[in-house]
Amino acid sequence: MAGASVKVAVRVRPFNSREMAKDSRCIIQMSGNTTTIINPKQPKENKSFNFDYSYWSHTTPEDLNYASQLQVYRDIGVEMLQHAFEGYNVCIFAYGQTGAGKSYTMMGRQEKDQEGIIPLLCEDLFTKINGCNTDNNLSYSVEVSYMEIYCERVRDLLNPKNKGNLRVREHPLLGPYVEDLSKLAVTSYNDIQDLMDSGNKARTVAATNMNETSSRSHAVFNIIFTQKRHDTDSDNTSEKVSKISLVDLAGSERADSTGAKGTRLKEGANINKSLTTLGKVISALAEVDSGPNKNKKKKKVESHIPYRDSVLTWLLRENLGGNSRTAMVAALSPADINYDETLSTLRYADRAKQIRCNAVINEDPSNRLVRELKEEVGRLRDLLCAQGLGDIIETYRGPIAEIAGLKYLSDYKNNNDKDQAVNERGDLSTVTNAMTGMSPSPSLSALSSRAGSIASLHDRIMFSPGSEEAIERLKETEKIIAELNETWEEKLRRTEAIRMEREALLAEMGVAMREDGGTVGVFSPKKTPHLVNLNEDPLMSECLLYYIKDGITR
Ligand code: ADP
Ligand code: MG
Repeated sequence: MAGASVKVAVRVRPFNSREMAKDSRCIIQMSGNTTTIINPKQPKENKSFNFDYSYWSHTTPEDLNYASQLQVYRDIGVEMLQHAFEGYNVCIFAYGQTGAGKSYTMMGRQEKDQEGIIPLLCEDLFTKINGCNTDNNLSYSVEVSYMEIYCERVRDLLNPKNKGNLRVREHPLLGPYVEDLSKLAVTSYNDIQDLMDSGNKARTVAATNMNETSSRSHAVFNIIFTQKRHDTDSDNTSEKVSKISLVDLAGSERADSTGAKGTRLKEGANINKSLTTLGKVISALAEVDSGPNKNKKKKKVESHIPYRDSVLTWLLRENLGGNSRTAMVAALSPADINYDETLSTLRYADRAKQIRCNAVINEDPSNRLVRELKEEVGRLRDLLCAQGLGDIIETYRGPIAEIAGLKYLSDYKNNNDKDQAVNERGDLSTVTNAMTGMSPSPSLSALSSRAGSIASLHDRIMFSPGSEEAIERLKETEKIIAELNETWEEKLRRTEAIRMEREALLAEMGVAMREDGGTVGVFSPKKTPHLVNLNEDPLMSECLLYYIKDGITR
């Protein structure tokens, strides 16, 4: 099957106050799907580009040509949601200089007709799930994760326990993924809205504490959408899984200043490593897909696409030229003063048009995956046995995991749970059960009594070439199996536990809650004096509210 091209849209926003104060002229014209940019220094020199969509949002809704939030959603969001129901991975990402309208397009504002693609798509997802599901044999589940990539580090925005950076790993079967990133179970649009809001709060808190600006970080919102069909005749269950990735990229302006000139500070380069690499990946992919003798060239060039050079491109590998239906929205400033940046954004978008993705329907991935992963566990155990470390797996399963760096481990000797004991013998999922947070973590005394055996074990592992790696891989694989085996009820319980921790943390910091406990949206406590956190980014401004309590506050 020939792949589908990346859908590319551009959108121009109204002047902002700075541009108005400077008496800016509008240098963008649109006609149909064509966008034309005029060089303010040489007004006769203009360049035109064709896209799948050119959105004129420079004026007001009264203008017949004005492209509203809803129109953008109807063109791009609806199609991508449809693909998700078909079982494809989908991705929508927003590109453009800071202030050009990326977040407005992706998230928008929580007001009537102002919501962006992400909330509209999530709302529609649940409307469709609840509305068309008259089939008793069809069931749906939705899980979300929300992360931020800043200076090549990944931050979990939904789980306050995951304070540090998360590791980006590659599994031989699963490909690149973020280890320990929390995937939370949701049952309604409201749940998602709450999580998005909490995530944005977490992002604001982190940004404020570190004195960063959101314009330098990438926000990636993932929805894992699973459709299960039970066939009553054969008693078989088949499954389709779609990963929906919605990405609000960092401002593109720094990519140029660091990438092209390369004279900035190292930190500056790191901030943009992901974005510069994204540019290189897009150029490389565009070349593969447009070059002569496509097929001959493709294999050779594909191995040189620098996905691995940054966290963002590594994680979005499938979405860029792989197994995904992908759309890009490039946000444009209308003003003459931004000519260079806007032209560079248009060229970027023009290149992205040439990328083709080969999306496939993800049917029954988890059954197959669990089987393959279990085979992998078998292989790894054999390997360790062959190195004379087999007894360790059997006797010291706990300490091995500790050495390999597992955070939680169920002390199954103290655990009378019969199911657990069965699991223990059946496969290696005990260690992994613990990862779900369902089992008690080991007591300190249990740990210290093991310290001696850990030390001697460590010596033995060190003397066996490759064993450390095998143990690490074993641990990684078991963790993934456990995640795949987790029941929906367990997921809901875990999600609830994390929610309570998250809210307790915000309450502790003095961030105001609504009377009903929720924190969604902007609200003003009428009678209590409070401080409001302002931010240059409208998405973050007034996101946090701190009460001032009676007495002296410092
Ligand atoms: P970015 O995320 O690219 O840095 P924002 O989405 O925050 O930029 O947009 C900057 C400002 O411009 C915000 O106040 C936003 O509400 C406004 N804005 C952006 N696009 C539009 C649009 N199409 N219509 C109206 N206002 C917009
Ligand atoms: Mg933004």
